[in-house]
Amino acid sequence: MGSQSLCLGPLPTIPQMAVFDVCVRGSGPVAMAAALALARLGLAVAWTGQRGAPAAGDVRTYALNAASARLLATLKIWDSLPADARTPMFDIRVEGDRADAALQFSSFSHAGEPLGWLVDAAELEAGLAAALRFAPHVSQVADGADAALQVLAEGHASAARARLAVPMEVHAYGQHGLAARVVADRGHAGQARQWFGAPDVLALLPFDRPDAGCSYGLVWSLPDARAQALQTCDTATFEAELQAATGGAAGTLRLASARSSWPLVLAQAQAVCGPGWVLLGDAAHRVHPLAGQGLNLGLADVTVLADLLAARAAREPWRALGDEKLLRRYARARLLPTQAMGLVTDGLQRLFAHPSPLARELRNRGLDLVDHLPLLKRALVRQAMGT
Ligand SMILES: Cc1cc2nc3c(=O)[nH]c(=O)nc-3n(C[C@H](O)[C@H](O)[C@H](O)COP(=O)(O)OP(=O)(O)OC[C@H]3O[C@@H](n4cnc5c(N)ncnc54)[C@H](O)[C@@H]3O)c2cc1C
Repeated sequence: MGSQSLCLGPLPTIPQMAVFDVCVRGSGPVAMAAALALARLGLAVAWTGQRGAPAAGDVRTYALNAASARLLATLKIWDSLPADARTPMFDIRVEGDRADAALQFSSFSHAGEPLGWLVDAAELEAGLAAALRFAPHVSQVADGADAALQVLAEGHASAARARLAVPMEVHAYGQHGLAARVVADRGHAGQARQWFGAPDVLALLPFDRPDAGCSYGLVWSLPDARAQALQTCDTATFEAELQAATGGAAGTLRLASARSSWPLVLAQAQAVCGPGWVLLGDAAHRVHPLAGQGLNLGLADVTVLADLLAARAAREPWRALGDEKLLRRYARARLLPTQAMGLVTDGLQRLFAHPSPLARELRNRGLDLVDHLPLLKRALVRQAMGT
């Protein structure tokens, strides 16, 4: 039952009187995408995010798959991103901790389609926030609002989830993911590079900012103390460490941004829905960023929920939006993909963090083996691309 009122000006702040179909809580990319996607269905959406663009300064470069790009295109965000804030990735080279162990994925085996895109995190959030300011059916509310359905996308420390007493299974890796932008003295040619050390995992993601054609988004997963040291050391020391870790394979690398880091965990909510509420994004699940999939999972949550509510409007309009039976379909649809991603990222992290010679032999042979199995490689890429 969508609201009949069309809001054409900047997002109004509603003190409290309107009746909403949905209240979306959270101000990150998943909450903003959810508010936009549900408003497109004609639902009256209350959103608790901040008015205007979020603060710039997130130095992350998100690897987004085709499914996420499709959702963002539907929401009219994808094409509004500046060209240099969205770089296609055509190859991925993964190296183990033995010189000859490597695995290569290429867009050639996928009809030349990019394997994914690297998107500027701050620019993506700014684009979503700008779209929300003028989205029909979306009203900003300061502290939430009564609604048939509460969509909880408040990130990992969700207060609403805590109020509902939903338990989280959390495994802390004892690592931080350190992110920054770096510039190389040679072109990236659309190739992402990843080094699985023991226990470090270092990814250089091809990007066009700050310098088109030769910049990278860096994500370096490191034990907590080493991450802290590399975040605070002087630039020359950091660049020397980075050069040593990459062996010069991507050229000489220069630090081109501030450095930020995040603690890394594997987490899964024991329930992602109940009567009148659903959990989305990091509020529901978190994975190690070694596969660049956390936000892709959150945006897939949005797509599944929006599709479910669209199907309800078409086939079961008598069913309340917060009907638990309806919402359990969302939970069922998301269970396998999120658990599978958690298992894969956790398994890889553990295998590569293990210091024993046997684990070393296994992981490096494993890379070589997968590299020689084109069908498996294609399936892995399709999975990561969300196709
Ligand atoms: C180093 C690193 C690299 C990553 N790289 C990738 C990648 O390449 N690809 C990928 O797919 N994923 C990646 N991720 C994962 C990705 O960052 C997260 O999965 C994603 O940010 C989750 O989005 P979210 O909106 O659910 O939560 P968040 O981004 O945490 O946003 C939630 C926001 O809502 C705010 N909030 C809480 N309560 C309220 C409320 N009541 N009202 C308003 N606001 C509220 C919170 O303060 C927070 O700012 C990476 C993560 C890390 C740490």
